[in-house]
Amino acid sequence: MPGAVRVPSAGSAMLHEIAPRSGVAFTMEKGQRLTVIDPMGEQVADLLAFSRADTREVISSGRSLDYLSRIFLTVPDPLYSNRSNVLMRIVEDTVGRHDFLLTPCSADTFRIIYGDETPHRGCFGNLAAALEPYGIEPDRIPVAFNVFMNVPVDGTTGELKVLPPLSKAGDRIVLEAETDLIIGLTACSALQSNNGSFKPIHYRVD
Ligand SMILES: [Zn+2]
Repeated sequence: MPGAVRVPSAGSAMLHEIAPRSGVAFTMEKGQRLTVIDPMGEQVADLLAFSRADTREVISSGRSLDYLSRIFLTVPDPLYSNRSNVLMRIVEDTVGRHDFLLTPCSADTFRIIYGDETPHRGCFGNLAAALEPYGIEPDRIPVAFNVFMNVPVDGTTGELKVLPPLSKAGDRIVLEAETDLIIGLTACSALQSNNGSFKPIHYRVD
């Protein structure tokens, strides 16, 4: 399974690296903060959060966008669950543009949109593999909070565009856990989402 590689950090908490086109899962305690860093710029990270008390509870794009009446989230917005509880809250954000509309890229994404004959398993496959030890099945993977993904929407026609992320090297977002969580996190595998190249993602939990 693709794993996190430990890399040196100036801070007290260990900084982890997610290799290009891979993903990880880990737990967080209530009150801990997850920092997701784009080390090179223009790289998306798909984020999922499940409640450890009952993994059938998971972040919900539909409920979050409904309650916030916006599609672009930033500080101090909450990520609501399918049961309308706040699972995480954005407490720092140096980019201000993330996507919460699109599902994780997958083998089907690459087959349907890119025409790949032997497609990569994508963020979906990476998340499914990383979450499998926690008893979370692939069919329970919802729309992810796509950190740094830049998907503007035409306000009249509703047309979506997947454009290069606005993140520069060193940009970050910090989310605080409002309950004990299982996190899934990737370095996204879709060319279009990452301006044509696959790069790592760094993260730490404080
Ligand atoms: Zn992806």
